[in-house]
Amino acid sequence: MHNLIQKKVDKIKEEIIIDRRDFHKYPEIGWTEFRTASLVARRLEELGFQVLVGKEVMNSDKRMGLIDKEILKEHYIRAKKQGADTYYLEKVKYGFTGVVGILKCGDGPVIGLRFDIDALEVLESKDTEHFPKKEGFRSLNEGIMHACAHDGHIAIGIGIAKILSEMKQFFNGTIKLIFQPAEEGVRGAKSMAVSGILDDLDFILSSHIGMVKDGSNKIYSNVQELLATSKFDAHFTGISTHAGASPEKGKNVMLAVATAILNLNSIPRHSKGQTRINVGKLTAGSGRNVIPSDAVMMVETRGSTSELNNYMKEHAIRIIKSSADMYDLKLSIKEMGGAESAVSDEYLINKLKDAVNKINNVEVDDTNINFGGSEDFTYMMKRVQNNGGKAIYFIIGSDIKADHHNGKFDFIEDDLITAVKVYSMLIAELLHKK
Ligand SMILES: [Zn+2]
Repeated sequence: MHNLIQKKVDKIKEEIIIDRRDFHKYPEIGWTEFRTASLVARRLEELGFQVLVGKEVMNSDKRMGLIDKEILKEHYIRAKKQGADTYYLEKVKYGFTGVVGILKCGDGPVIGLRFDIDALEVLESKDTEHFPKKEGFRSLNEGIMHACAHDGHIAIGIGIAKILSEMKQFFNGTIKLIFQPAEEGVRGAKSMAVSGILDDLDFILSSHIGMVKDGSNKIYSNVQELLATSKFDAHFTGISTHAGASPEKGKNVMLAVATAILNLNSIPRHSKGQTRINVGKLTAGSGRNVIPSDAVMMVETRGSTSELNNYMKEHAIRIIKSSADMYDLKLSIKEMGGAESAVSDEYLINKLKDAVNKINNVEVDDTNINFGGSEDFTYMMKRVQNNGGKAIYFIIGSDIKADHHNGKFDFIEDDLITAVKVYSMLIAELLHKK
């Protein structure tokens, strides 16, 4: 069985790389993955998967940090021009870019595999030494780039779909391949997690390429510190007036936001673990001689557990509300993204190790990987774990060429092949006919 899987994956190596390069060339930011999602859906259908798209696998109200309608429209038109699948394109319209492929292989456990599909607003390097530039697959969507390897994640997902469709007869159970939009800014997972699509899962698995330098041919099983986080925008509204002639008639938002920012940074640290707060962007005021009447503050909190993040968030919201009250302003707070903290289940970590040990030239590294960031896959992990299922998040090592989210980011394409082998082997461990 292990040899058969490895052989089959090696055979589709070129196809996996072609897919990766295609998605790299046409990157799309969160909620605009129209071309990407429509093509993924088409491919899954061709491979014999039952395909569910958009509202069938997403809760509309739980989509966080959705972008402006005009921008959605613009990107939709571009997707059409860039070869999107016309049937599925219609179904993912208005930012419903989640896709799930289901393959039933008899009675047995239900496994979900999650792949994030969005790109970033990063300008890709034009340096001729930058591999995608050198090989002619640099981003055609200027200013947007797959700078976090999600192009690789998509290619891995399609590669696995191919292997599964050929090896169906060896398995007992159901596999759901979950392609999730808008991971960047931790905005997309929640809408899929609460849609019901995960509620029959016994296992959910996901991973990220890269994260560690010189990681090729290694699978990191011990990911720590997936920080829980909340992202929200606070909109303050006051009254504008002439700053010279009638300042007493104004209601000044600038004073409130200044008060808020200083006090947000004064929330006491917590003895139980790491906490963070940041006001990353402030837009306020309209001109030198006008009492400022509008401000938007982009805020994020983090904590090493969901409890600690909630502690930060509650304090933050109290301070923001009090600051608005102090200057008699209107306030609205909009949730823009979020993730929980989550921990992989030991059972699946051991299964992962068993799977990797059967693959040639790949090893498990169980040193503690301090992720230091956040991942909205944790919503899915928690959902499955709360229903009595098990979850794992691991790292597929790669010799990355620059930090994630940098214009020179790149990874080793051979590591995609390793990833497809690892997942296929892991599925074989969990669903193999006795
Ligand atoms: Zn990423």
